[in-house]
Amino acid sequence: MKLPFNIDLSGKVAVVTGGGGVLCGTFAHALAACGAKVAILDLRKEAADKVADEIVADGGIAIGVAANVLEKQSLEAAKKEVNDRLGSCDILINGAGGNHPKGTTTKEYYEMGDEDLEGITSFFDLDPSGVEFVFNLNFLGTLLPTQVFAKDLIGKSDATILNVSSMNAFCPLTKIPAYSGAKAAISNFTQWLAVHFSKVGIRVNAIAPGFFVTDQNRALLFNDKGEYTDRSKKIISQTPMERFGEKEELLGALLFLLSNEAASFVNGIVIPVDGGFSAYSGV
Ligand code: NAD
Repeated sequence: MKLPFNIDLSGKVAVVTGGGGVLCGTFAHALAACGAKVAILDLRKEAADKVADEIVADGGIAIGVAANVLEKQSLEAAKKEVNDRLGSCDILINGAGGNHPKGTTTKEYYEMGDEDLEGITSFFDLDPSGVEFVFNLNFLGTLLPTQVFAKDLIGKSDATILNVSSMNAFCPLTKIPAYSGAKAAISNFTQWLAVHFSKVGIRVNAIAPGFFVTDQNRALLFNDKGEYTDRSKKIISQTPMERFGEKEELLGALLFLLSNEAASFVNGIVIPVDGGFSAYSGV
């Protein structure tokens, strides 16, 4: 894999939750290319195995491990497997996350009477179970793996945790209040955890990806003909660089934050990688 620059992670064990997914699969490849032994944790074991197999085929060291970031027991079992097969964990990337249609309103703006319309999910129709799902997946799904894996990190001089926030944490996007709130909680938790672990050698930071085309959001961003949807056009018009990001463009921020040579005094920050989206007022 082509990296923006190399950092030396040889001998380190990295755990990547959601590593079977698009962005974190790319992170896993990058860590392995820097010499780390990578444990790819995912609810979808076959997706985790696929990424691990690709890494091994490229000459790296990786294993796929089934894990549910919402179940402590599952995470404890995953930790045991990682420890037995790769060793004690040095790097934790909390990547598992996402949205759910039940935490999403149909329209951007409420209009009077929307709650009485068939087929429209207004703010008043939002299903608490959908909101709860999204909060749990993103927030608890970061907190629980940290409770389990940070035990390995404590007391090492160069251990790091990296969380995955979002543009929604800076300013919520229309329609997705649950995801926006949950990612704001991730940015907040990143700061909290950085302070909390500051005396025991663990740095905690986050990246906030802007808009990257992945399987999860493809249908929102492109129509059947492969053209931008109205929402895509809005995103691009608010992105000074006038395009979506390529997933490899996250790797510079990722490697910088994980590097103890480059970022030894960087703790509790959230780096936007967004083509200027979060800096642009729209005027
Ligand atoms: P993705 O759906 O490709 O990857 C998410 C992975 O998490 C999947 O492999 C899924 O199986 C796994 N997962 C889901 N629930 C899980 C659970 N309970 N336990 C373990 N694994 C579970 O999504 P992605 O776009 O690569 O997103 C990765 C992260 O980046 C997420 O936190 C997402 O919110 C964040 N993010 C993505 C974008 C984007 O543009 N794609 C932008 C900002 C933030």
